[in-house]
Amino acid sequence: MSHQTRVNSERLLMRLDDFAAIGATPAGGVNRQALSVKDREARRLLVELALARGFQVFQDPIANLFIRRDGTRGDLPPFLIGSHLDSQPTGGRFDGALGTLAAFEVLESLEDAGIETDAPLELVAWTNEEGSHFSPGCMGSMAFSLKEIPNEWGDLLGSNGERFSEELQATLEALPQVQMRPLGFPIAGYLELHIEQGPSLERENIPIGIVYGIQGTRWLEVTITGQASHAGTTALSFRRDPMTAAVAALKTLFDTVMPQDEEARFTIGRFAVEPGSVNAIPGSVTFTVDLRHPDTESLNQLEALIVKTCAEAATSAGCKAQSRRLFDMPPAAFPEELLACLDRAAEGQALTTKRMLSGAFHDALFVNRIAPAAMIFVPCRDGLSHNEAEYVEPAHSIAGAQMLLASTLEALASFGRKSG
Ligand SMILES: [Zn+2]
Repeated sequence: MSHQTRVNSERLLMRLDDFAAIGATPAGGVNRQALSVKDREARRLLVELALARGFQVFQDPIANLFIRRDGTRGDLPPFLIGSHLDSQPTGGRFDGALGTLAAFEVLESLEDAGIETDAPLELVAWTNEEGSHFSPGCMGSMAFSLKEIPNEWGDLLGSNGERFSEELQATLEALPQVQMRPLGFPIAGYLELHIEQGPSLERENIPIGIVYGIQGTRWLEVTITGQASHAGTTALSFRRDPMTAAVAALKTLFDTVMPQDEEARFTIGRFAVEPGSVNAIPGSVTFTVDLRHPDTESLNQLEALIVKTCAEAATSAGCKAQSRRLFDMPPAAFPEELLACLDRAAEGQALTTKRMLSGAFHDALFVNRIAPAAMIFVPCRDGLSHNEAEYVEPAHSIAGAQMLLASTLEALASFGRKSG
């Protein structure tokens, strides 16, 4: 039955070209930043295509766009598939667009084949995934999962000084024919197809990644304070040099954190020395830590290890260490029951897959807080993304869309039957 249903390859590739033309850059990329005039143009095109196919279209107060193909049972919550239409300022043609247009291809393929589903199936294009025009990213999925727009977004200014609230309003008004919906409603689940944005699938020649989670990120700032003093006149026994403490602590951490746990990522990206004079022992050194791991408990343990290591090194140098957390994004673990649907779909399509973790944030991270979510990755050339040279082989785009179609049907069979 459903395993025989195919996506229309030419139509998918044509749609990718059509949308890549909206905000196209001379270097072959896309500049279609969230809530911009070009973003509105892409939304308008998608809505036109949807209405022409007889689908219903909705938007919510954060301008998430929903395209609905009804199921046979109106009492069931919809299953969502989609991604985002916004891009980086010098972004690629596939980041976000592939997942959104493949989701539209799934709706059209089901329509072409006359396949009815019990639960409604809805495409979603989330607002401002990238976060480059207005920060933070993933605004649409975050607000959807919170069922409200955080107050502090009201006064946000964009990268060119635009007011977020005004650009949001103008984006909503650009689609006057589209019905408004409240923010956040029950959904049966969510699937997102996306380019890997890393090199591993291409290197291993595997067409499909089944993403089992998104690693968590924590940023810390550590300050080690000692005694600023003359570099020439202060003998070793009189020194309280925070640099020696920082170097010792970081040497220990570089030698343990990543070597002892291959899932951990430990990066010191910023390092400042005060007063920063060539002939003064520093009074203090401050550095940032970017710490990533798929498991919250490991993040907690690693953070504790970092704090303790820095404190001990400071003490032995006669200094004091202070650590504070700047940012905390918990990891997402996608539910095994939905991942099993993806495994079955890949098997039915004879597609080789590998289970993998996403190193970058995605809207699925936020959606997974309120409903079962998972992601499908396809390879991109040289792992390049957030780059105008971003490229996906047509065969990989098609395989990704086919995988999304088969996975959606599997997921609807498992998740689309329970009423909300
Ligand atoms: Zn993206």
